[in-house]
Amino acid sequence: MAILVLGGAGYIGSHTVYELIDRGEEVVVADNLETGHIEAVHPKAKFYQGDIRDRAFVDKVFEECKIDAVIHFAANSLVGESMTNPLKYYDNNLCGTKVLLESMVAHRIDKIVFSSTAATYGEPKNIPIMESDSTHPTNCYGETKLSMEKMFKWTGRAHGLRYVSLRYFNACGAHESGEIGEAHAPETHLIPLILQVPNGKREAITIFGDDYQTPDGTCIRDYIHVTDLAMAHILAVQYLRDGNISNIFNLGNGVGFSVKEVIETARKVTGHPIPAVISERRAGDPARLIASSEKARQVLGWNPQHDDLEKIIASAWKWHKNHPNGFEKK
Ligand code: UDP
Repeated sequence: MAILVLGGAGYIGSHTVYELIDRGEEVVVADNLETGHIEAVHPKAKFYQGDIRDRAFVDKVFEECKIDAVIHFAANSLVGESMTNPLKYYDNNLCGTKVLLESMVAHRIDKIVFSSTAATYGEPKNIPIMESDSTHPTNCYGETKLSMEKMFKWTGRAHGLRYVSLRYFNACGAHESGEIGEAHAPETHLIPLILQVPNGKREAITIFGDDYQTPDGTCIRDYIHVTDLAMAHILAVQYLRDGNISNIFNLGNGVGFSVKEVIETARKVTGHPIPAVISERRAGDPARLIASSEKARQVLGWNPQHDDLEKIIASAWKWHKNHPNGFEKK
């Protein structure tokens, strides 16, 4: 029986596929390649190009392959874009998931692990953030992910499907082989943008606000290595295979770094001065987001290996230095 990875050509999806194949799993990848890269799909995975909003496409994959569980990464995930084009997020993230669930129910596939986000919490009341804390998303992206969680909950109750929702904090880093890494167009995430400076693609990094209520005035985030995230998906599939109930887990290191600390660490790793310019705050950015991942450690046995920011940035730098244009061969 295979694991179907939807969005397996994307950043976190492709790293999860690499880890699954390393562990001897049979993997089927489906991706519409809108933001994913065919070069990121592991050569041993069976690949289907198509869109989860297309019921005939999803049915075909379930009919042609013996699928035991689904890992669902196929979604749009840019906070800023979700604010200017919310219906794109409702369409892909919610309508896509609805079609997927209809097809899963029809084909009696009853296990799904999916990407949720720290953005489901909104401005946190407590640090570190616990899964039991209240959820009040401050952007449309987080809202659609929270609605997806609820769609799984009610579909599960009605049809016996079980799910694990993984609420990621800030994914970063790249596969140790240097073969795959982060490649978004346009890039909006802090670490790859910082690394564009030593790569000669950008003059300076812009700091979005230095007047937050934090020690150095810049936002604090919990940076978690993509391979550690990938491992959590594998443990979550195992958790469902073992017959456990649906559940929600935070995935982070439990340690926060400010934007200025990340830039300083990148200077150290790359040996480049990386000039920084202060600008306005970015809309919808909470001051501090730090996960409590105690539950994932206790229940899933998750044990993230990359808790050192310098090593995380070094792994991202290894990828970006050798692939300044991402997967484009230029
Ligand atoms: N950030 C920044 N400059 C940039 C990109 C991001 O100062 O060019 C800040 C952003 O405001 C946030 C942190 O870096 O506080 C992480 O942002 P990112 O977009 O990487 O992830 P997010 O926290 O939005 O998921």
